[in-house]
This record gives sequence, structure tokens and C-alpha cells, in this order.
Amino acid sequence: VTTTKKPSAKQEYRDSRGVAFADVRFMLSERPSGWPKIKRVEDPRVCQLMHELYKRCWRCGAGNVQAHHEFAGSRGASDELTAIFMLCSECHSNVHTRAFETGELLYLKWKHDRLNVDWVRMHLLCGYWLPDLIVRRP
Ligand SMILES: [Zn+2]
Ligand SMILES: [Zn+2]
Repeated sequence: VTTTKKPSAKQEYRDSRGVAFADVRFMLSERPSGWPKIKRVEDPRVCQLMHELYKRCWRCGAGNVQAHHEFAGSRGASDELTAIFMLCSECHSNVHTRAFETGELLYLKWKHDRLNVDWVRMHLLCGYWLPDLIVRRP
């Protein structure tokens, strides 16, 4: 017997370590200024690997995907699997103009690349709290 669980609005969005997105708030101190400072990773092979894994845009399915580093900030992009989002040029530019929410981007990562999702690491790379709501596209 195969049971197919349909994702519900209340699902926990667990990452590759089994951490539920909502539980990160209990794992890190309330003030991001108290979070450990982490060094960015510089390794072009990580992007190459993502390009080998994903040929289609996570948002619209178009080809010619580009690797977007979400948590670049002032410290520069980190070449880590959890930080890279594969999007076509149009969706990629929409990310940079914030035409769609970070919450949706997080959802797309979780949906398409769950094995490479590490919610705590994402927060540390980001340096501030990511949006509470993971937005599922209608
Ligand atoms: Zn796209
Ligand atoms: Zn980008």
C-alpha cells in the first residue's frame, strides 16, 4: 500500500537535517547580532554541480538556468549548496528586484532541492531572520 501525503498548509518544511523551518527560532538567539559569524565559502565547483543537477527553472520551468546566491550581503556570495537557487534569467532578475517574496524563494528551494536545504545555515549566512512564512505559489 502506497500512501501519498499531500502537503498541507501546516506542514513543517523540514530540511535535510530534519529541522523544521519554524523551529529555527528556538535554535538561534533572538538577536542576530549574537549569532556566530561564519566565513563564506569560495568554490566554483558548487555552482557547477548545481548546474549539472538542475536544467530547469525552479519557479517557471524554463531552461537556461542561472545560479542565484540569495545570501550574498556585504560579505559576498557563499558557494554553498544551501545558498544557491536555480532560476531562469527572467525569474532571476525578478529575485533581484524583489518582484517575488523571499518566502516563495525558500519554498522553491525546499520543493526542488530539499536535500541541500539547511535552514540554520541559511539564517547564519543571511545574518538576520528570514521571513516566518514560507510562501507556496498558488
Ligand atoms: Zn523562471
Ligand atoms: Zn542572483
